[in-house]
Amino acid sequence: MSEQLSSAERLRYSRHLLIPAVGEAGQVRLKNASILLIGTGALGSPAALYLAAAGVGRLGLVDADVVEVSNLQRQILHGESWVGKPKLESAAARLREVNPHVDIELHPVRFTAENALEIAAQYDILIDGSDNFPTRFLTNDTAFLLRKPLVYGAIHRFEGQTGVFAPHIAGPCYRCLLPTMPAAGSVPSCQEAGVLGVLPGIIGSLQAMEAIKLILEIGTVPLGKLTCFDGLTSTFRSIKLHRDPLCRLCGDQPDIHGVHNAETTASASCDFTSTIMESITTQELRKLLDGPVQGILIDVREPDEYALAHIETARLIPLKTLPDMLASLPKDREIHVHCKSGGRSARAVTFLLENGFTQVKNVAGGMDAWLADK
Ligand SMILES: [Zn+2]
Repeated sequence: MSEQLSSAERLRYSRHLLIPAVGEAGQVRLKNASILLIGTGALGSPAALYLAAAGVGRLGLVDADVVEVSNLQRQILHGESWVGKPKLESAAARLREVNPHVDIELHPVRFTAENALEIAAQYDILIDGSDNFPTRFLTNDTAFLLRKPLVYGAIHRFEGQTGVFAPHIAGPCYRCLLPTMPAAGSVPSCQEAGVLGVLPGIIGSLQAMEAIKLILEIGTVPLGKLTCFDGLTSTFRSIKLHRDPLCRLCGDQPDIHGVHNAETTASASCDFTSTIMESITTQELRKLLDGPVQGILIDVREPDEYALAHIETARLIPLKTLPDMLASLPKDREIHVHCKSGGRSARAVTFLLENGFTQVKNVAGGMDAWLADK
């Protein structure tokens, strides 16, 4: 463990040393930190370049791919002379050129349930630069089991998302956001969808920023928030996320205790979902219902449950009848959905999002939480 910088490092990082919140102590922290980048493609490229330049002491890279011509439009770690060669060799050469003070460690393998824990255990923070659901679930589960922060990023055409999952500190995990892997064919493949080349530059840089904030312990790490960027309207939107008590990994009664499971061992499928489920707490719902502008509140439980106790303004639409009721619901108003504890309403929210409703939120904890916080 280094406790100070060499004179060459002081010169190199002088613009960091000028920032009071970084300074020499912060730069030494960066020097002693380690980050694992899963993927050296579109998101991994800018993230790795900035983290190396910033002086993060040890960078691990996992990738088994070779550089292809079609990568060069967005994967800025790689250049023409590396086409046909392993991405990791290309990445290592470029990153060592950017900063020879950084240790670049190469894991020239596919990140799988067999090697994930062993590789990730060697690093402080994980950055998800993958492009498929199985790797994302695997990265999430690995980070959770090792109690390491995961910096998430995803891109699609002109839109990107980023966030930090660290349920061992606070907030949800990726599975709380997406309880089950979308069915194959329900989201377009990466080749079909496409992505504007500059977009991963923005999202990957945000991932590097969050990792550096985590190391320096400065600012606010957006635990429980997803930052969504729309390149066409130049807008950022912050979506509030809540830990799902029913989450199979970080919930109250988890049934996932290792990295081998249906999602992490599935074959690759493309990974951007625009149907991110937003949720609100029962306290927030109470405030909304007391306020002047009210959305629509839907109770998706069964009639006998509704008869026992219900929220006054809630409209009963049992989950199985929801498909028949779609036409009666407005798309231009906020819709809040609740059930007993949040499971059925999560399925209802996902269904509504998939059917073109954009202002839908899940009431976290459902009727149980509503009655408990009365
Ligand atoms: Zn979770």
